[in-house]
Amino acid sequence: MPEAKTLALIAHDGKKADMVAFALEHRDILSRYELVATATTGQLLAEKCGLKVECVLSGPRGGDAQIAARVAEGVIEAVFFFIDPLGKHPHDPDIQGLMRICNVHNVPLATNTATAAFIISTKAL
Ligand code: PGA
Repeated sequence: MPEAKTLALIAHDGKKADMVAFALEHRDILSRYELVATATTGQLLAEKCGLKVECVLSGPRGGDAQIAARVAEGVIEAVFFFIDPLGKHPHDPDIQGLMRICNVHNVPLATNTATAAFIISTKAL
């Protein structure tokens, strides 16, 4: 397995403000990692938080599936995937797929800000 040192960040539209707030609060830790994000989330993190982020496709266009592939390859240390449970998502199969792949490979997956705060605070990260 390659060394895992990349964090993945994804936020649904209803959770993008939460993602920006989370990233600002934990900017120092995040900036020590390679970051990969879906397109719109990554653009926001770069613009609003000054983080260097590799952007894949937007979630509905396959970005979640691209990140799932990287999880399967073993290069992602943790996934911060802020899901909007009240929204409808055309790419729901990809969302389920990403969560499944995290579980298959036992990769930490935070789907809300409370869990994200625990994961980012752990010394294991
Ligand atoms: P986005 O994709 O960051 O491009 O908005 C996230 C998603 O909706 O899965």
